[in-house]
Amino acid sequence: MTEAQIPRPRPKRSAGRFPLPFATPVIPYSKQSLDADDRAAVAAVLEGDWLTQGPAVSDFEEAVAARCGVPHAVAFSSGTAALHAAAFAAGVGPGDEIVTSAITFAASANCGAYLGARPLFADIEAGTWNVSAATLEAAMTPKVKAVIPVHFAGLPAPIEPIRELVGPDVAIVEDAAHALGGHSGEGEVGSCAHADMAIFSLHPTKAITSAEGGVVTTRDPELAERLAVFRHHGMVRDPERFVHPEGAGDEGPWYHEQQHLGFNYRLSDVHAALGHSQLGKLDAHVAARNAIAARYHEGLAGIDGLDLPPRAGEGSLHAHHLFVVHLREGTARRLALYRRLLENEIRTQVHYIPVYRHPYYRSAFGYGPGLCPEAERYYSGCLSLPCYPDLTPAEQDRVIEVVREAMSDG
Ligand SMILES: *Cc1c(COP(=O)(O)O)cnc(C)c1O
Repeated sequence: MTEAQIPRPRPKRSAGRFPLPFATPVIPYSKQSLDADDRAAVAAVLEGDWLTQGPAVSDFEEAVAARCGVPHAVAFSSGTAALHAAAFAAGVGPGDEIVTSAITFAASANCGAYLGARPLFADIEAGTWNVSAATLEAAMTPKVKAVIPVHFAGLPAPIEPIRELVGPDVAIVEDAAHALGGHSGEGEVGSCAHADMAIFSLHPTKAITSAEGGVVTTRDPELAERLAVFRHHGMVRDPERFVHPEGAGDEGPWYHEQQHLGFNYRLSDVHAALGHSQLGKLDAHVAARNAIAARYHEGLAGIDGLDLPPRAGEGSLHAHHLFVVHLREGTARRLALYRRLLENEIRTQVHYIPVYRHPYYRSAFGYGPGLCPEAERYYSGCLSLPCYPDLTPAEQDRVIEVVREAMSDG
């Protein structure tokens, strides 16, 4: 469960019968921004004939593909499902290895484990908190079938040097869950200029939401086909792709083939309508997030012991899914700040515990703390402050004030 989904505490009760008129409102670390258009788009689907994957999904996929400047976008029920499908489409299987960032949501690595592959972890760069060709190189082995760089917090990571490193035969799947709406010298995030596929999440904390949902973009029609088939049980209905092409003639027009193991990872039309409506607000959401980040950079400048996050270079746009500050003195100081903010009804989060530290990764793959030194150093002091389009300047001032006070208390 994310902070955004944790129910708000009830208003504090006075000694008398009635709750206090207004407790200090809770500021979550993130939440969705929905408006009347979004609700109307969902209601319109509910008036129609299709609920599950139908015309609204196709329309949404076309819109995402157009936005990213690719011929294909395939929608999924979540970003996690999108990652699973992308790793499958890339040919990842038992005995293979995949490499992703040590600092990411576990789903970036889990997609390899789902397919029987071993996830490996690359360290982050101190200056960007992203993986780079250099950190990936240190983790590469001949068994690596796919690398999954993450545009952490929304800062686009250069992919071209990674393509130069891995060559044409290792798949690159960008985990762009944080970075929809961002761009760099390589183009729009999701344009797959140097990657085989890019995945997005449409979770409520992300730049736009469909409640739950995900999308994979690609320039490759074969990959798009594999993604779509994986989403629907591995079932193929196109006679040109049948393993037994005589089937349709011999048996009847209902003939279809399950050619491999797949899943039900479909997005519904209800969710797609919401995602499509939200896509129209993507630029506004990213601009609002950047305005908040700029205000934090100003309001939190010059605090002793507090480092502010890396900024996008000239010609790049940071999508600012997160605004992460880093406390140089590490865990004890970070815990004190976290608590002080919480006492003031300000929810923060830690993104992320290095994935290899989780008990599953220790027991299943033999990992443990200390694997990636820069990731460890980052993790010891990182804290994600509230950052979402509807955060008001007054609320943001409250956050800045509490951080300033807490940091000056020594
Ligand atoms: C959110 C997220 C995902 C998973 O997306 P869901 O839609 O929640 O399944 C994957 N990778 C990263 C980096 C994420 O932040």
